[in-house]
Amino acid sequence: MSHDKNCIFCAIARDEAPAHRVLEDEQTLVFMDIFPVADGHVLIVPKSHRENLFEITPEEMAAVARMSRRVGLAMRHALAPEGLMVFQLNGAAAGQTVFHYHMHLMPRREGEALALHTRVPGDPTRLAENARRIAMSLEILTDRAGSDQRPR
Ligand code: AMP
Ligand code: ZN
Repeated sequence: MSHDKNCIFCAIARDEAPAHRVLEDEQTLVFMDIFPVADGHVLIVPKSHRENLFEITPEEMAAVARMSRRVGLAMRHALAPEGLMVFQLNGAAAGQTVFHYHMHLMPRREGEALALHTRVPGDPTRLAENARRIAMSLEILTDRAGSDQRPR
């Protein structure tokens, strides 16, 4: 796995920096956004350091997309948001602030103003609780998929 020693998401991926982790697989890691725009705001990153869409490999991007679907289903199960926004920013001009590719999964409510960032840190207890609830739903949905052969 290539990494950048100055990158916070590489540090999280290598377990050298704290995060409210939800799940990982061989190529990706899922954790709570520490400045959540909405309650339950999740990030999915490739474990390799890739700055953005222009650097990530098609395989890594596909792995993030597969994980986004899986985590999105678990977020629906755990948090029952009215909507779910999935987005990803490339370059400072697009609003990117952490230069390690990441997908945002953000619960949305009817009529809520649209924002991509906030400077208000999440309550650590709430971040941990949301991570735990989403992880539990991932387990439940994975078990169900295993028992009735539905694709996951
Ligand atoms: P972007 O603007 O798309 O680059 O988003 C970067 C996201 O990373 C923002 O939503 C930040 O709140 C989030 N973020 C920054 N540092 C951390 C961190 N240490 N742990 C979790 N999320 C972070
Ligand atoms: Zn990185």
